[in-house]
Amino acid sequence: RERVFSGIQPTGTLHLGNYFGAVSKWVQLQNENREVIFSIVDMHSITLPYNTKELEKNVFLMTASLIACGIDPEKSTLFLQSQVPEHTQLSWVLGCLTTMPRLGQLPQFKEKSSTLKDVPLGLYLYPVLQAADILLYKATKVPVGDDQIQHLQLAHSLARTFNKRFGDTFPVPEVLIQQNCSSRIRNLRDPMKKMSKSHPDPRGRIEITDEPDIIVEKVKKSVTDCTSQITYDPENRPGVSTLLTMHSLICGLLPEEICEENSLLDTGRYKYIVAEALVEKFTPIRQEILKLIESPEYLNKVLQEGQQKANLIASNTWQEVASKIGTIPSN
Ligand code: ATP
Ligand code: MG
Repeated sequence: RERVFSGIQPTGTLHLGNYFGAVSKWVQLQNENREVIFSIVDMHSITLPYNTKELEKNVFLMTASLIACGIDPEKSTLFLQSQVPEHTQLSWVLGCLTTMPRLGQLPQFKEKSSTLKDVPLGLYLYPVLQAADILLYKATKVPVGDDQIQHLQLAHSLARTFNKRFGDTFPVPEVLIQQNCSSRIRNLRDPMKKMSKSHPDPRGRIEITDEPDIIVEKVKKSVTDCTSQITYDPENRPGVSTLLTMHSLICGLLPEEICEENSLLDTGRYKYIVAEALVEKFTPIRQEILKLIESPEYLNKVLQEGQQKANLIASNTWQEVASKIGTIPSN
């Protein structure tokens, strides 16, 4: 049976990289009537220094943002990772099936640890917890941005290793990447990097709650390159290509078709067209978020119901795992 799972960290505010790379795909899968489970993965957000009040605020903001983007709690299971303790239990078991060199070579770990003097163990174990998130639900499809491919490969090998050692348990999940164009949305100030919640410079990302004039400003100041022509070339021209990718995902035309349509404009003028499309697309979503964030009781209720649904699956898998690995299940 097919089951979709994915997660997002409440490290900061949902940005357009998250939206175009992952969340828009989640909404599409949900609306195709698949069984879909989405988690706000707060245990991942504590792997780097953070503020407790901020985290709490961000969890509610993320819940509101996902609902405003189209995640319907009636159709999807939307829950908070820390409320389902089996995630961390399974991650321990999986951690015993991989090695330190395997984790040390992962690019996200290398990047996020590079600026730290003392690297927290949690940051290193992060991909193992992520594999547990996915396998706990026996997910068959995982829609993520392409920055997560290496982590998904680890999840694949952990599923295979577990199955081989303890008997067939986990399906090997298929990675779903946004297809019609490059799914990696770049940092607007530094197009060699991806847009990230945790990047210290907020001007590099457009957050889903940004006011229209901020969106226009950020697009206008986005770093492109010294060619003024509009061409789609994610490898060599990541800046302008990110603008084209976002535009394409909004209007439904291929990036190449947009280039043709705007062949008389330079990148400076084209930025205004993109900014306008973004403002039009995200203004109603921002307004919906502002409305939802006023009802924490409702958001809490959504998370509680999500937790109950997630828990049914998680506790079953955990019982199965516990008995297969030779520990004695508690009931
Ligand atoms: P952080 O900086 O805290 O890691 P993030 O912006 O990378 O935050 P995550 O919560 O780690 O966001 O990822 C949520 C989902 O969004 C993942 O599926 C990830 O692949 C996707 N994603 C994140 N950034 C981008 C991006 N720039 N382009 C496309 N997809 C992205
Ligand atoms: Mg990330």
